[in-house]
Amino acid sequence: MEHLRLYPRYRRVTRRLAPSPKVVTGSPSELARLLRSTARALDGRIRLLADENTAAAAPELVDAIAGGSATILPGSPVVVPDIDIAERIAREAAEAGSRAMVVIGGGTLTDIGKYAAEQADLELLCVPSAASVDAYTSARSALRIAGYHRTPTSRVPSVILASPPVVAEAPRALTLAGLGDLVAKVIARLDWQLGALMTDEAFSAREAEWCAGVARHALARLRREGLRRAAFAALDALLVTGRAMRVFGSSRPAASAEHTMAHLWEVAFDAGDGTGHSAPAGHYHGLLVARAAGSVVAAYRWILGRILASASAGPSLPGEAPHELDCRWQELVPRDMQPFLGKMQEETTRAPLDARAIADRRARLAAHRETIITLADRAITDAERGLDALVRAGIEDHLPQIPAHWVGRSIQWVRYLRGRYSMFNLAFEMGWEPELLAFLGAS
Ligand SMILES: [Zn+2]
Repeated sequence: MEHLRLYPRYRRVTRRLAPSPKVVTGSPSELARLLRSTARALDGRIRLLADENTAAAAPELVDAIAGGSATILPGSPVVVPDIDIAERIAREAAEAGSRAMVVIGGGTLTDIGKYAAEQADLELLCVPSAASVDAYTSARSALRIAGYHRTPTSRVPSVILASPPVVAEAPRALTLAGLGDLVAKVIARLDWQLGALMTDEAFSAREAEWCAGVARHALARLRREGLRRAAFAALDALLVTGRAMRVFGSSRPAASAEHTMAHLWEVAFDAGDGTGHSAPAGHYHGLLVARAAGSVVAAYRWILGRILASASAGPSLPGEAPHELDCRWQELVPRDMQPFLGKMQEETTRAPLDARAIADRRARLAAHRETIITLADRAITDAERGLDALVRAGIEDHLPQIPAHWVGRSIQWVRYLRGRYSMFNLAFEMGWEPELLAFLGAS
């Protein structure tokens, strides 16, 4: 049986982190035995959280804790990770006198369970039903709160019970989502170091390299061996990236502009648009991220070309100067972005970029030009290869349809939706944004 290799190694490298989820790999019947003895030790005061699909995917594990209480959510329509559901489950667990919670599920159920376990102060055991997200080892849950994606503090599981056959048999769209989310780590590594070079932001080379490295590894498995055989490697990588966020103390190692764009799409428009595609909110996180990564990579390739072309000519400045635009950004927010103005004000706490700040950024690009070119070329090439492997594995059948208008809006406002430096900031500061948006057909 396949074992997790990367996560245990990274766990040793980062052994000071606490709490530190242990991982047990085994067949469903081995894991069921372990759950049975855990349930006995807790006098049966253990609560199961699953949905109809994940319960059906791991029947032995469900049986193992049949003596306890359970919440089985409907399998369809897809459960939305809303904070109200998590709070209800926490109340039910408290009323039932539960001491521990076992979540059998992917990202949504795990996020709900982690938040509920924190609220009800329960020990948490997670059984990943798919290699779909990096939620299993992270300390935050992605939940919808008051109409926007937020990440409240949540319980870290004490144990992760990983079964290769369960993960390999997950619906293809879920494994594709997990691998799609891994493409983001390659982009995040570039943007993070770029942020360090351009703005002196705190950067951990170790976490950046681990996250991009495990992502490349899983995507290489996909390319060589196909989706099913890459599934457990994807879970291994996602456990590392979830942990890296805790090691660094934010999602910076694992999420950049592509995540910000995906989060906007989740809430920005109602896709009851007559195309027959479901609303973005109903799409798996990693698929939205993969869709966003496609746009990001195309844009970054263009920006890299622009950096290469700017060697002697210097940056061009069509239209209003970047510092003028940045100083009055709030006036420029279009009507359809108004619902997110509050969120953008909350995120954009930095001082507006004045002419001196822009001059400083330009001097920094000139000083670090070779490093940035090397970094960007490697990351963009890796991301392109990963996306290409995903296309060959059939991801396009599952990708959400995002109207070009909203792709453009997300790129243009990404700098304010999240205070996190990316190649888009660089393009803006160099005065290339109008050209970039025109190139993307999104202006
Ligand atoms: Zn993600």
